[in-house]
Formats: sequence, structure tokens, C-alpha cells
Amino acid sequence: MTDNQVQEMERGFSTRLEHCEIAIVGAGLFGRTLALALLLKGFSVTLFDKDSVAGTESCAFTGAGMLAPYCELETSDPIICALGEDAIRLWSDIISNLGTDVFLQNSGTIVVSHPTDHFLLNQFQARVDKKLVDQSAKLVWLDTAQLADLEPSLMPRFSKALYAADEGQVDNRQLLSALAGALVEHGCEWKADSHVHHIRKVTITEIDESRASDTPALGLQYPDYDEDQQADRVEYQHHAIPKCRYEISVGAARYAFNLVIDCRGMGAKNQLEELRGVRGEMLEVHAPDVVLTRPVRLLHPRYPIYIVPRPGHRFLIGATTIECEDYRPITVISTLELLSAAYSVDPSFAQASIIETRVNCRPAFNNNQPLIQHSKGLIQVNGLYRHGFLVTPKLVSLLLDFIESKPIDTRFTGLFKEEKQVATVC
Ligand SMILES: Cc1cc2nc3c(=O)[nH]c(=O)nc-3n(C[C@H](O)[C@H](O)[C@H](O)COP(=O)(O)OP(=O)(O)OC[C@H]3O[C@@H](n4cnc5c(N)ncnc54)[C@H](O)[C@@H]3O)c2cc1C
Repeated sequence: MTDNQVQEMERGFSTRLEHCEIAIVGAGLFGRTLALALLLKGFSVTLFDKDSVAGTESCAFTGAGMLAPYCELETSDPIICALGEDAIRLWSDIISNLGTDVFLQNSGTIVVSHPTDHFLLNQFQARVDKKLVDQSAKLVWLDTAQLADLEPSLMPRFSKALYAADEGQVDNRQLLSALAGALVEHGCEWKADSHVHHIRKVTITEIDESRASDTPALGLQYPDYDEDQQADRVEYQHHAIPKCRYEISVGAARYAFNLVIDCRGMGAKNQLEELRGVRGEMLEVHAPDVVLTRPVRLLHPRYPIYIVPRPGHRFLIGATTIECEDYRPITVISTLELLSAAYSVDPSFAQASIIETRVNCRPAFNNNQPLIQHSKGLIQVNGLYRHGFLVTPKLVSLLLDFIESKPIDTRFTGLFKEEKQVATVC
């Protein structure tokens, strides 16, 4: 490799991408979606996760999969809405190319309140409208007849509602599974059950051509690396890779890559200042007598809830938003509140069977916005909070533009932050 080529590599990731070995740490929602996008662009990708391929421990496995850019505006910033509007369109493309059925629904969200709480509907609309850049028909009022037309089973308990027609939902677990299938099909090297203990910056000073292997590298492994020496100068064994930047360690094994993308969600808690976990609890019920066809949000002064219908008369009822990093099973009080609120939306929930309770913590920064923090050879994506499904495809497409040194949509440049020195990530 010539000095010029090394200098080109120093400038960014765009040069000699055909030799760029990429590692993604964290095969949750963001890591999987990103891995597939990179593979489809022709990159070589190795995916590390401490969990199984099913991803049952990820926040994404718990999430409700609602794609609600307008309803979320009540409490989120307009940038989340802008990401989400684009992402909803992108999900359709991604899912249609997965080759497996994934339940994706685009029939809107209904927002209701009990008659005594109608002021909450007005407040909700005012808060959302204030933040909407283009207010044209994003959130419309439904009168009794219109509501009865869309969701007859809400009658006669609710007389008016708000309707966000352009919202939707995706089945989170089907999506994770279909992404996994597509990743394997497209040649992703998936290192499941691999807890990454260190992501460490290394400097390559010596290339030992005699030890170079002709085997295409899926990252470079140092099985006999001497842990005690902890030197930041290591030799690498494959001449095809122009410049290694970061080394990943899983147990005794070491791997080196030109680019490491850290998507560990709450797993990065100790390395990312400000990252916090926000507990969310949810129940899944089987309710053959309930006939709701799209997500319904109930505004309530004490316990607002959403009900997300899934095929097979299954309904997700959620979710609490509790400011604490607590992974213990759902509490009695949360169960009582969620189920009472659901029962008040439709008394037929009384005979439902509780199939599952779900708990996880959403990874969030102080501003509740995602962040793409980058230095040479390392990118950390985190803080998806309660909007992971809503924003991921757009965030992935922005990150691809960044990696390929294409111009970034100026509406979203504030989500990127350069970090000068990142020596050890974990
Ligand atoms: C109750 C609840 C409801 C939600 N509902 C919605 C919703 O309706 N709509 C929406 O848009 N969002 C929703 N979310 C939020 C959404 O689930 C998250 O924003 C999203 O899952 C975050 O994605 P992620 O890829 O950053 O993290 P995760 O999905 O958690 O993935 C992180 C991955 O990193 C792996 N990992 C961590 N540490 C290591 C390590 N050291 N080595 C190797 N692997 C590691 C983990 O095993 C995991 O697989 C909800 C969340 C909760 C809890």
C-alpha cells in the first residue's frame, strides 16, 4: 500500500471501500438493519452480539413496533417526526426485499379519551400541531360517525377522536427474524453468543507479508494475542486490509477491522456519557372478543396506554415509561394500570388471556434524540429511546451516506458528532 493510499484512508472511509472490513457490535434493531444495508452495498460485515440470533434480550424484542411520527410529537422533537416520516416509506422497501412475510400495517393510529378527559385530546392536538412543520391533515378530528366507521367496537364509549392516518406499525419479532434470515443469506458473518469485552484502538506499524493469508478476511483474528502486553501497536496478518483501526475482543479471541460500528444500545451504558435506560413494561394478551384493527392510544391523566393489534387476536398493551434502569419483571401496579385502562377502552378485554409480560429499558440520551458519534474507524450509534422502529431505516440511510462520504441531508447533521480521541470503548 502506498503512502498516498494510506493518506486517502486517513481522510475518510470513502477510499478503497472494497477493502473495508466492517464490524458491527450489537445485532439488535439498529445493528441488524445497518448490517443488511451495508451488505447490499457490497461491504464485508461481521456482526457480534452477546445474545442468540433470535435477539430475545434486545430492547427491539420487547418493543411494540409502532411507527407513529405524529403521535410521538406530543413529547418528542420535530427531528424525530422528520426521521420517522422518511423511515416509514423506507420500511416498506426494506421489508418487501426480505423474502419473508413481516406484518407491516399502514392504516393509521386512533387517539381517544374518555368523555371526562376530552380536554386531553385538545391538549394533545395543540402540542402536536405546534411542532408540525407541515400541518396538512397529519392529525384530524373524527366525529362519532367517522370513528364508528373506522373502529366500530369503540362505540358507544368514545364519541370523538384524533386520527393520524399516515402512521403504522411493524411486528418487531417477525422483523428481527426476517432480518436475521436475510443477513445470513447475504453472507453476513454472524458471531452470536459473543460478548464483546473490548473495542480498542490499535495502530498498525508493521506488515508481515510472510504471514499474510490469502483467505478473505472477516476481520482479523489474534487468537494468541498477549493480553498482558496491552500494547496499542499490533501486527496484523492479512495484507489486503490497508489500515486497521479498532480491535474487538471476545473472550480470548481478537479481531481487527477498518471500521467498527458500535450499536450496543444499553450495552454501551458505561462508555457513553449521558446514556440512560428508561424502563418500559408491556403485556401481550390473546383477546378473541376484541375487534380493534389499528393501534389505539388512550389519553388518560394517570395512565395513558396504547393498544396495538397483531394478527391472531393478539394485542400489545403498553407501555410504561419509568425513569429507572430496572429490568425486574413487570410490577403489580403497572399490570393493574395497563389492564384497567385497556378494559376501559373495550370491556371485552376482561376475558382475554395474558400471554406474556415484557420489560426492557430504552436507551436514551438527555435530549431523547439519537446520536451518531464518530471518530476515525469507530462510529457509535445510540439513544434510539422509544423511537427505534420509527427512525432506524432513515438513520441507517444517513449513516450510509456518511460512510460513503456523500452529503448528509442538512436537516439531520445535528445528529452527528465528531469525537476526536476514542481509545478504548469498552
Ligand atoms: C416497552 C417498549 C416499547 C417500545 N415500543 C416502541 C415502539 O412502539 N416504536 C418504536 O419505534 N420503538 C419502540 N421501543 C424502542 C425500541 O425498542 C428501541 O429504540 C430499539 O430497540 C433500540 O435499538 P438498538 O438497536 O439501539 O438496541 P437493542 O435493540 O437493544 O440492541 C442492542 C444489541 O446490542 C447487544 N449488545 C449489548 N452489549 C453487547 C456486548 N458487550 N457485546 C455484544 N453485543 C452486545 C444486545 O444483546 C442487543 O442485541 C420500545 C421499547 C420498549 C422497551
